[in-house]
Amino acid sequence: MDYAQPYVSHTGGAVSLVSDDRAVPRNKLLSSMKAAAFERLRPALHTVDVQANELLGEAEVAPAFVYFPNTAVLSVLRSLGDESYMEVASIGHEGMNALPLFLGADRMPSRSRVRTAGTAIRMARADFIAASNEDGLLSVALRRYAALLLADVERAVVCTRFHTIPQQFASWILYSADRVGRDDFALTHDSVASLFGVRRATISEAAGDLKRLGVIRTGRGRIAIHDRAQLRAAACVCYGKRNDP
Ligand SMILES: [Zn+2]
Repeated sequence: MDYAQPYVSHTGGAVSLVSDDRAVPRNKLLSSMKAAAFERLRPALHTVDVQANELLGEAEVAPAFVYFPNTAVLSVLRSLGDESYMEVASIGHEGMNALPLFLGADRMPSRSRVRTAGTAIRMARADFIAASNEDGLLSVALRRYAALLLADVERAVVCTRFHTIPQQFASWILYSADRVGRDDFALTHDSVASLFGVRRATISEAAGDLKRLGVIRTGRGRIAIHDRAQLRAAACVCYGKRNDP
């Protein structure tokens, strides 16, 4: 993909601009800024709809645009050296997808793909680097987010090493619901299995157990939380400890 050109999704369709003037973004990095500082950034910000599985940035490439999710959730995906990828972090309305550029990298180390469709605020890379290099409120918010994301990645290392897949899956459902702000959302066993780096049958088994207990409902590529208290009991201790500024 030629990132020097205007963005075109991997499916061949251009992302759609929704609006440039929504008053207050849901994205917390942007909404935490003081009004005057945000107003200076506003001309460079464009709200776009992003679709599930849409590729927003490729590894080893300097992206044309960076994204601050509103209702969308993005996956940070690391190549396993073949055609497969594993999710190493996810980004919702608490963050953005190009911290390495803010920290001085000239390209992204990982792939950035839409996990849950929704809206995000898009900014040209050059505008983002110029704004984040100013000693202002955006750089303060990004530094804080970098520390939180690093802590979250450290927690995830422990989680994947010591907590079972059913526990991790239950945490993941809860956290995903929090991110999208709804108790039902799109999900396929294939996509979750690839995020966890396990076989599809392993996720189907974990989902089947939760379904039999009446904790969740699934069907038509969606999942719905039916009993949040039981789901919390099934989740590992990591849920509730993840960093969400
Ligand atoms: Zn865990």
